[in-house]
Order: sequence, then C-alpha cells, then structure tokens
Amino acid sequence: MEVYLDHNATTPLRPEVAEAMAECTGWAGIYGNPSSVHNVGRRARHRLEESRGFVAQALGAEPRNVTFTGCGSEAINLAIKGAFFASERPRRHIITSQVEHSAVLKTCRWLETLGCEVTYLSVDPLGRLDPQQVAEAITDHTILATLIHASNEVGTLQPTAEIGALCRERGVAFHVDAVQAVGKLPTSLESLQCDMLSLSAHKLYGPKGVGALVRGDGIELTPLIHGGGQERGLRSGTEAVAQVVGLAKALQLALEEMPEVTLRLWRLRERLLGIVRDLEAVKLNGDPEHTLPHVANLTFMYCDGMALGLNLSLRHIYVSQGSACTAGDMAPSHVLMAMGLSEQAAHGAIRFSIGRDNTDEEIDYVVSEVIGVVRKLRILTAPEDIGKCDENCPCFTR
Ligand code: PLP
Repeated sequence: MEVYLDHNATTPLRPEVAEAMAECTGWAGIYGNPSSVHNVGRRARHRLEESRGFVAQALGAEPRNVTFTGCGSEAINLAIKGAFFASERPRRHIITSQVEHSAVLKTCRWLETLGCEVTYLSVDPLGRLDPQQVAEAITDHTILATLIHASNEVGTLQPTAEIGALCRERGVAFHVDAVQAVGKLPTSLESLQCDMLSLSAHKLYGPKGVGALVRGDGIELTPLIHGGGQERGLRSGTEAVAQVVGLAKALQLALEEMPEVTLRLWRLRERLLGIVRDLEAVKLNGDPEHTLPHVANLTFMYCDGMALGLNLSLRHIYVSQGSACTAGDMAPSHVLMAMGLSEQAAHGAIRFSIGRDNTDEEIDYVVSEVIGVVRKLRILTAPEDIGKCDENCPCFTR
C-alpha cells in the first residue's frame, strides 16, 4: 500500500482536469496565441476568457481583476511588491505575520532592503492572530496588510474577515494568501473582506505552473514582468491557456464537491487522530476548532521528525516534517517556533495532509505504522515515565 498524505505540498492532477487541458494543447484546434487576431488565436482567447470569467465569479471579482500568474508565489509577489512600487508615499509600511509562507516572508524581507518598514505580528499558541494587534500595528504609513488565511503547516484558520473589516475601516489595502484555502473552504473577496487574494492550481488538484491574483476594484499595482502587455499590462508573457483552463476546471470541481469532500476529510482526520489517543507524548499543533479539515500537525516528543518521516517513507507513507534542511542545518519550522513550541517539539513534528482520494483503510494503516515506528525510535531516547507526558506537558513549549 502507498499512502500519500502530503496534499498541502501538492495534489495529483485530476483526470477531468487533464482532459480539459489536453483539448488546449493542439488536437482540438486550440493551440493559438490568445493575442493573435485570426481564428486560431481567437479560439484560444475564448477559452482563456471563459476560464477567467469562471474564476472571477467563483471568488467574487470582476473578470478584469483576475490576473493569471505562473504560481501562487508569483501572485503573492505581484500583490506585495506591486503595491509597494505603486505607492508614491515617502515612507511605506507593510503589516504581515511570523507564520506566513516564505513567498510572503522573503518578499517582505527583500522590500526591507529597499527601505520598506515591515511589522511581523506574533500569534498565540494555537497559531492565531489577534485582530486587535493588527489595529495597533497600523500607522499613517501603512500601505498594505498581507496575511495568510489557512496555514500550510498546521492548518490554523485566521480571523481574516474580522481583520479585513478593520483594514477597510482604516483605509489599508488587504491581501490574503489564500493558497491553502481556495477549493477547500468557501472563499471569496467578500467572505474574507479583502482587496486581493492569491491562489495556486496545484493545491486543488489542478496543474502546476499556474496561479492567480484576484482583486477588487481600485487597487493600484506596478507590474513585475514587462513585455507584450498581456493580462491588462500586469503580467506580460503569452498566457498559458491550457494551464489556466486546468485551474478553472479544478476550481469548478472543488466547489461542486466541497460539502461532501469536506465531511469525508473531517472523518478521515478524526480517524487519523487515533494516533493521539493511542500513543503517549503526542500533541496536536494548531487550532483544533479553527482549522482546515484535512490537516493534522503532530509533535511526537522524544522522536526526530526527520527520522520518523524517513521511516514512514520506507513503509510507503508520505508526509512532511516540521523541520527543513537549510544550508545543511536542520532548522525548526518558523511557524511552530512562532507558536511557542520548544525546539525539540518543533523537530519532532510531522504534518499529515489528507486528500480526497484517501480511504479509511489507508488511514488505519498509517495510524498503526506511525505508532509502531515512534515506539521503536523512542527505545533509546524516551524516559521511562513517558506515559505521564500529556499534551499539557511543559516539554512541548518554550
Ligand atoms: N502560500 C502558501 C500558504 C502555500 O502553501 C504555498 C505553497 O506551498 C504558496 C503560497 C506558494 O504556492 P506555489 O507553490 O504555487 O508557488
């Protein structure tokens, strides 16, 4: 049995999506450059605009305000750098958080080198932001707040609409990294009370190589890529029609199936959390209530997450670790550290992200293998009284 539980990293392409994309690669006569005025180009333009219309309607925007990009990271870069360069204010301040994806964090860090002031908000132990903190961080120079809605690492959902309403009141533009939310939760500009949101097709069973930045009216952005003026001048480069068609198709299927799939994912997650019930010294990281339905990030004390991940991989179970190898060093996840975990607890973390095709049998196999492997790895490292180590144990936190 091979069990893929890394759907936050990427998802497989759905056959229905592959089929819709294949039509735009040539055999159905749809291969043109959408900028060409002849029939071959116009057929491609028609598919492109049809997809744009669908994405716009699904996320509550006007089609003219949907910009297709090469990935989620590019959409995020366009939102943040685009807003920074479009502002003519002498001092520019951006608000973000310590639990963002690196596409946001590294963009903000780079803008700091250009003189931008950035506030990195902290989170509570469940990974949640306090809207009040956002209110307090806003200054006369704040041009943008950019925050993640659903955490890729722990699944925690932020009080985004509340923060958005607050930004609107104070006249601050608000961008949301909704890459892990779109297609999983009802998401729109209105529901998140935001001015811009970023998404990525490969997180929702669509193709890699395409994302989108969706905006409300009146948001000024400076383009990052100059050239032929495609995408209303915001993102030059011949549009990847097949990828865009794949994005729209994947989103359409995700929306149609969302109620049923969400319930199924909740059930599978509950089943997976049998690990927490049956094993000692395990803790669920993240908010148990405000969470994505398919994500469970668990810390296994006295266990190295990398060793656990590799052992599970040998058993054909594929997950992600809470530590990343940076320049040969194991760096604990910045998200878990921001939530106040001890370094040891962050190193012992594993992220399970379930997908629509996982089954009860697969999850039962994972539960029993994880428990077996953790007990083996702990033989030399765990104290004898480990049974007393419950989720309130001080060893989990700093
Ligand atoms: N934002 C979040 C929350 C993500 O999880 C990811 C990808 O992991 C990205 C942004 C970047 O998306 P992409 O891989 O399409 O560049």
